[in-house]
Amino acid sequence: MLNSVFKISFLYLLCFLWSSSINAQEISFLFMGDIMGHGPQIKSAWQENKKQYEYSEVFNPLDDIISSVDFAIGNLEVTLAGKPFNGYPQFSSPDELAVACKNSGMDVLVTANNHSCDRKNKGVIRTLDVLDSLNILHTGTFKDVKNREKDNLLVLSKDGIRIGLLNYTYGTNGLPFSDPVYVNLVDSVLIKKDVTNAKNKDLDKLVVFVHWGYEYRDFPNSYQKKYNRFFQDLGVDIVIGSHPHVIQPMEYSKKNNQEFLTVFSLGNFVSNQRAERKDGGAMLRLSFKKTDNNLLISRKEYIPVWVHKFIEQEKYHFQILPCARPIYNEKYFSNKEDFQKMKTFLDNTRAHLNTNNLAIEEGVPYGLVKFKPITILQSQDPELRSLAIEQIKTKRRKRRRK
Ligand SMILES: [Zn+2]
Repeated sequence: MLNSVFKISFLYLLCFLWSSSINAQEISFLFMGDIMGHGPQIKSAWQENKKQYEYSEVFNPLDDIISSVDFAIGNLEVTLAGKPFNGYPQFSSPDELAVACKNSGMDVLVTANNHSCDRKNKGVIRTLDVLDSLNILHTGTFKDVKNREKDNLLVLSKDGIRIGLLNYTYGTNGLPFSDPVYVNLVDSVLIKKDVTNAKNKDLDKLVVFVHWGYEYRDFPNSYQKKYNRFFQDLGVDIVIGSHPHVIQPMEYSKKNNQEFLTVFSLGNFVSNQRAERKDGGAMLRLSFKKTDNNLLISRKEYIPVWVHKFIEQEKYHFQILPCARPIYNEKYFSNKEDFQKMKTFLDNTRAHLNTNNLAIEEGVPYGLVKFKPITILQSQDPELRSLAIEQIKTKRRKRRRK
């Protein structure tokens, strides 16, 4: 009896939290690292029985997290240049990769990275055509100058809150692009111009997603640090880094109500890199809340993700696991070594980020964003725990479908 009274009041509390969240001026984001397309991933996506490519199983374990935020943003580090499909070193993945991204709830793919020009101008253009056809927002590479003028600054807005997004890469592996195609390179003159223009567009915050750094280094190099300071001095609010294929620290600071947040590298979101530290990455969940006409960060946390590569029915499969979820225990894995590898990744990630991050902690790996239900989720009662998750998941999904 007491138990059911508790459950009912708990549900009321959830409803209250939910209804009060509807009126608040808030916007939420999820940033993901490098979406790679190595040869074994392409091979794994091929469905012999259907004679087509399919990537849905890769993203399925993250569906509720990705679809629970207002804007989910990842770095597409392949071209969608059509056949012949190819992995490293010059990537072209099947369009179905982007279809799966869209279906999992991703809203934006940034496209400026060292693989943007892997299939020359044609590849840049076709990639953007595919993203447009799927209604996936993008920035970083452009079909022509006119296009760049219009789409360079991507404005993501909700409830009257306007967040700007710009995207740059340190280079394109020596593969040139030529007129009319344009790829945003890290160039201080260009960036200063773009940021100054963006600042006149009535934005609440400005985010720069930047492809930089040395591969496989756990800490930012002097180039990253120099540009990070440059972004801060220009008035950029959030810097999201990718490219090193391993996670680098995240930093948050606040001075006189002025916030600045940097993720030096989110690591791999999905790839066939299997060595320690490269076999996963982190997502950054970020929410802003507007009070008294001032927009401040209301939530900032990292969620580790590990790429599970396994054999089933004589075929390799890939899955991105929010590996801190208790369901990914030893029983989940047919190969117990995989569990150990995941645990090593999670332990390393936590040791690295919990030591070197400034004011950004690990968040719960569930699809809920608002009003700190963390205390509820950490309840000792497993029944209540799943109830809370189901409730929020259902409501957020409904809202999303409208
Ligand atoms: Zn890269």
